Amino acid sequence: MEQMHIAHSEALYDRAKELMPGGVNSPVRAFQSVGGTPRFIQRAKDQYLYDEDGNVYIDYIGSWGPMILGHNPDIVLEAVRNQLENGLSYGAATALEVEMAELIHQIVPCVEMMRMVNSGTEAVMSAVRAARGFTGRDKIVKFEGCYHGHADAMLVKAGSGVMTAGIPDSSGVPKGCTADTLSAVYNDLDSVEQLFQQYPEEIACVIVEPVAANMGVVVPEKGFLQGIRQICDQYGALLILDEVITGFRLQLDGAVGHFGVTPDLVTYGKIIGGGMPVGAYGGRREIMQLVAPLGSVYQAGTLSGNPVAMRAGLTQLRYLQAHPEVYHQVGFLSHRLRSGLEDIIRRHHGNCTVNGIGSLSCLYFTPEPVRNYTDAKKADTARFREYFHFMLDEGNYFGPSQFEAIFVSNAHTLREIDKTLGDADAFFSAHSGN
Ligand SMILES: *Cc1c(COP(=O)(O)O)cnc(C)c1O
Repeated sequence: MEQMHIAHSEALYDRAKELMPGGVNSPVRAFQSVGGTPRFIQRAKDQYLYDEDGNVYIDYIGSWGPMILGHNPDIVLEAVRNQLENGLSYGAATALEVEMAELIHQIVPCVEMMRMVNSGTEAVMSAVRAARGFTGRDKIVKFEGCYHGHADAMLVKAGSGVMTAGIPDSSGVPKGCTADTLSAVYNDLDSVEQLFQQYPEEIACVIVEPVAANMGVVVPEKGFLQGIRQICDQYGALLILDEVITGFRLQLDGAVGHFGVTPDLVTYGKIIGGGMPVGAYGGRREIMQLVAPLGSVYQAGTLSGNPVAMRAGLTQLRYLQAHPEVYHQVGFLSHRLRSGLEDIIRRHHGNCTVNGIGSLSCLYFTPEPVRNYTDAKKADTARFREYFHFMLDEGNYFGPSQFEAIFVSNAHTLREIDKTLGDADAFFSAHSGN
């Protein structure tokens, strides 16, 4: 294999490290867990990324979720161009925001009222505030290994099992901010029930990723989400589905539609901005009516509902609504990728596990099934690192961490999937798991 030329990325990385922590504006981009030089991307189109040295990669990140149609689809590009003529931001109400809210409500009727924000982090932070305001309770339940953005209360890992009160997972987070965050185990309803038995009247909400896509990809077992719904109802707590990744990805109406579970509140991000910074939270009218200026739960944003971002997101969502075949296609390609990987692992005794659903997949470097965070952490990250760099050098750009999802877009074709599988086959034939 010829060594990839990355001199421009290396030079940029050196300059970047002087001025930005880790040289990046979001940690995973720094290649911390796989080592090596992050690639500085100059442009992207359809299924490809192009770096500053002119290398081309098949992109399996899709900006971590938004680019379900591939990069820079012409229709979104044109809509954004048209909006640019009308101004970048007004700080006042627009028709675009009304159209966006109407479209989301039409697609997911249980989102009776909503508020646009600028990121998934903001959406979650605000939804939790609304849940606490509505119930008058302080405690929240999250699941180990689920990521809900970087708001203080969400940065919790259960230290020693289910019953411990939250210990901050980041310095700079006061203990008081996470004292009310309880951690349960994904796919384990008993762990949820136990927390409610301990604090029957103190838990405001349970927040869950309906498909956990920030510890690799962990699919909810049958009855898990419904079980959480029942427990919440029994104890008067709210259910928040964090659909920042799954929303408009799993299928048009997301996990709400796919699993047939109705949340009280739902959070969105990623896809709804079509690549622009957008998040949203919404749900039952009586809860959302508590949000300012109607009610006493304060939440605001100078750039929220930004017209350029709304135009991009609306255009992508409308396209998805009009083209249900997109979901078949990304599901078909991802299924091909997963079954191909499984076949390769079997033939080469690769000692890996493939998880996934729809357009979300993960190749775990552990032979055992992965159904929660403890299982995921058994993965051999050193082997992942070798695999990652092998694949990157061959022009396959995966998330630079064992615990990121593989995203396939509608711009990918069987040709790319088969090329990637060919490269994976070469890796495993040279690096058998035994
Ligand atoms: C990405 C993500 C977030 C955070 O969204 P940002 O836009 O990065 O702030 C929250 N929840 C889930 C499930 C996510 O995947």
